[in-house]
Amino acid sequence: MALLSIVLPSYNEEQNIANTARVLAQLLEKEQIEYELIFVSDGSKDATYTEILKAAAANPRIKGTEFSRNFGKEASIFAGLSLAVGDAVIVMDCDLQHPPQVIPRMWKLWQEGYEVVEGIKLSRGRESLAHKMSAGLFYKIMSRLIKMDMNASSDYKLLDRKVVNVLLELPEKNTFFRALTFWAGFNTTTVEYEVQERAYGESKWSLLSLMKYAITNATSFSTLPLQLVTFMGMISILFSVILAIQTMFKYLSGTAVEGFTTVILLVLIIGGFIMLSLGIIGHYIARIYEEVKGRPRYIISKVTENVMGNATGKG
Ligand code: UDP
Ligand code: MG
Repeated sequence: MALLSIVLPSYNEEQNIANTARVLAQLLEKEQIEYELIFVSDGSKDATYTEILKAAAANPRIKGTEFSRNFGKEASIFAGLSLAVGDAVIVMDCDLQHPPQVIPRMWKLWQEGYEVVEGIKLSRGRESLAHKMSAGLFYKIMSRLIKMDMNASSDYKLLDRKVVNVLLELPEKNTFFRALTFWAGFNTTTVEYEVQERAYGESKWSLLSLMKYAITNATSFSTLPLQLVTFMGMISILFSVILAIQTMFKYLSGTAVEGFTTVILLVLIIGGFIMLSLGIIGHYIARIYEEVKGRPRYIISKVTENVMGNATGKG
């Protein structure tokens, strides 16, 4: 019988673990789906891992792991994917904002032969206006940059074993899970879902962390900002040709260019362009530097007993 793995990244979610484990176990048993739940505690500072241990002791189908520190949601997703042994893997938030009722539908589509089932948000749920606007802008830019419609996409998706293996083999450390499944291709379909209220606790994202996430992901998926530098260079060359002709004309006709104003403006504008360009290039160099170091995406400090292989590991 086919096995479904569910990966649940969890950061400071002590209030959610027990409840989420119970809700999922009940649902999957009712649907008679063979399953395992993998809770990845992302260096939580509260009792999340203790809760995972408790849940695992009560239900042998529950596994878990703890990171040595907080590595971010992407890292927890990838750790979960590498621990999963299922024929299909679902990634979902452990705060039940991704409604579990959708799981049987995803499972059925997988059985029909789809290899990727993308969860599509019908609406964005209750978020602050600033959050909604920045997320909206982010996805608009992202969709443009990577030429895929990302607006309603989320990290809630089902992946076939084949796709999981492809993702696990990617050498890069800076990943953007949400877009990578689009990039990977495969036989894809979607299911729509309504984002739920968070069961317990509060969102782990601040506006600042969202902005950082946006810039990192946009640049890890696109080199368009670099081409922007060329574009800016072309514009300033165009302007300088026009200005040069004008200056020469005035010089030859005996009226010199007026005062310092022109010089100051030119220095400011060109200086601004150059520094902005250096900044963009510097950002890419920083990303290359990070990748070249080849450090692991995450470091595992603990695993529950039912996890096979090494007790500690990195990936
Ligand atoms: N999460 C994580 N590591 C982090 C931040 C968040 O594993 O550094 C997990 C978190 O426990 C939750 C999921 O990612 O299961 C989504 O986070 P959250 O609910 O805070 O985000 P939101 O739903 O508000 O976008
Ligand atoms: Mg959430």
